[in-house]
Amino acid sequence: MEKVRVIGAGLAGSEAALYLAKNGITVDLYEMRPNVETGAHKTSDLAEFVCSNSLGSTDITSASGLLKEEMKRLGGTLINIAFEKCVPSGKSLSVDRCGFSREVTKLISENEYINLIREEVIEIPNDDVLTIISTGPLTSPKMCEFVKKMTREENFHFFDAIAPIVEKESIDFNKAFYASRWQKGDADFINCPMQKEEYENFYNILTTAEKIELKDFEAKFFEGCLPVEVLASRGVDTLRYGPMKPVGLRDERYPDRKFYAVVQLRQDDKKASLYNLVGFQTNLKWGEQKRLIESIPGLENAKIARYGVMHANSFINSPKILKPTLQTQNNEKIFFAGQITGVEGYNESMATGLLAGINAKRYLKGEELLELQDISMLGALTQYITFKEHKNFQPVNSNWGIVKEAELDRKTRKNKELKNAYLAKRSLEYIDLIAK
Ligand SMILES: Cc1cc2nc3c(=O)[nH]c(=O)nc-3n(C[C@H](O)[C@H](O)[C@H](O)COP(=O)(O)OP(=O)(O)OC[C@H]3O[C@@H](n4cnc5c(N)ncnc54)[C@H](O)[C@@H]3O)c2cc1C
Repeated sequence: MEKVRVIGAGLAGSEAALYLAKNGITVDLYEMRPNVETGAHKTSDLAEFVCSNSLGSTDITSASGLLKEEMKRLGGTLINIAFEKCVPSGKSLSVDRCGFSREVTKLISENEYINLIREEVIEIPNDDVLTIISTGPLTSPKMCEFVKKMTREENFHFFDAIAPIVEKESIDFNKAFYASRWQKGDADFINCPMQKEEYENFYNILTTAEKIELKDFEAKFFEGCLPVEVLASRGVDTLRYGPMKPVGLRDERYPDRKFYAVVQLRQDDKKASLYNLVGFQTNLKWGEQKRLIESIPGLENAKIARYGVMHANSFINSPKILKPTLQTQNNEKIFFAGQITGVEGYNESMATGLLAGINAKRYLKGEELLELQDISMLGALTQYITFKEHKNFQPVNSNWGIVKEAELDRKTRKNKELKNAYLAKRSLEYIDLIAK
C-alpha cells in the first residue's frame, strides 16, 4: 500500500498531507500538540499561524504574491483556504487565524486518506516508509537531537520575536484613526500618530526598558524580523524610517496635520476585535511592554490581549543535507519541508510543504521528481537553500534577489515594475507547464 509518514502538522506538513490525500495516497500525519506544547502555538489546531496573521502582498509582481500564485497553480490547498478566510488589510492578504486553522483541522480530520496521530515523534523508525519531516522552527528538543544525529550536522539556532496584540475596544479613537498608506486600498489599518516629544518619550522608554535574558543560545536575529528594541538601538531615527514611518498617512478629520512617527495596528481576527502592532516584535519584559504601549498616543488604556515573546528557531544546514527535490542526500525516502529547511515565513513553509507532497507522490508513482528552476519563486527558494557554496547559510524569505536574472532590454531592466511583471510572467508560464 502507498503510504507516507508526515511529521508535524503545521503549515508545511498539513499542505503536504492534503496534497498526498488528494492524490489517493494514505498519510500518517503526526502532531505532538496538545500533548507536547511548543511555547508559541496557542491551540491544538493544525496549521496555526503563531504570530502575525499577515501573508503579505497578493500582487503577483511582488515576490510573496508570485509565490502565492505559484502555489495555487501547483495545486496547493492552504493558500485557497487563506483567501477564503481573509480579513481586510489593504492590498495584502491577512487571515482570520482561528478560522483558518480550524478549517485545515476539519479537512484533515475528516479526510479518509489521512490518519491524524497526536503523538510526539522522537525518531524515525528504520523502516521503508517514505517520510516528510516538517516539525518547524519549534521542533521538539528530542526530535532536534534525532535530526542532529541523522544529518550529522549541528542545528543552528537563532531568535525570532512576536509582536503584542491589543483589544480594539480599548483604543482611544480621539487620537487614533483608520487609514492605509497613500490611501491604497481600504482604510484598514489603525494608526496612532506621534509628535516629536511623544516619540522622544517613547524612544526613551524603549531603549531603557528591561529585556528578558536569552539563556541557551547566542542571540542571533533574523534581519527580516528584528525586535523593535534592536531596531531602536541602531539609532534614534531608525524606527521613523522603518515600521513607524509617518509618510503617506493622513487623518481625514485633520487633513493638514503632520506626524513625526506613527504606530500602525493591523487587524488580527475576523471580528476585528484584536489588532497587532506592526513591526513591534519584542523581547521586552511584559511590564515594560505595557509601559511602552501605554506611552503610545491612543493606546494609553490599551488592553493587551497577548504580549510579544522571543522564541528559538531551529533549521538544518540544507546546503549540505538536502537536494532541490527536498529529499536528503543520504536517503531519498526522507524529505524535509517548511521552516526547518531554512526557508522563512508562512508562504514559504506552505510552498515547500506542497513541493515535498508533490515529490513524495511522484516518488511513489515512479515519476520524475520536480527540481524547480530558479525562474520560479519556489524554484529560487529551493535552489537557494540547497546551494552548496553558502559560506554562512541563513534563512531566506521569497525575494527577487534569488530569482534568475533575465535578459531584458534597457527600458525594462531599469523599470522595477516592468521587470517584475516580466519575471512573474516567465515564472507562471513555467509553472503552468509543470502543473499541466
Ligand atoms: C513564534 C514565531 C513567530 C513567527 N512569526 C512569523 C510571522 O509573523 N510571519 C511569518 O511569515 N512567519 C513567521 N514565523 C515563521 C514561520 O513561517 C512559521 O513558524 C510557520 O508556521 C512555519 O511552518 P512549518 O510548517 O515549518 O512549522 P509549524 O507551522 O510550526 O509546524 C510544525 C508542527 O510540528 C509540530 N511538531 C514539532 N515537533 C514535533 C514532533 N517531534 N513530533 C510531532 N510534531 C511535532 C509542531 O507542534 C507544529 O504543529 C514565525 C515562527 C515562530 C516560531
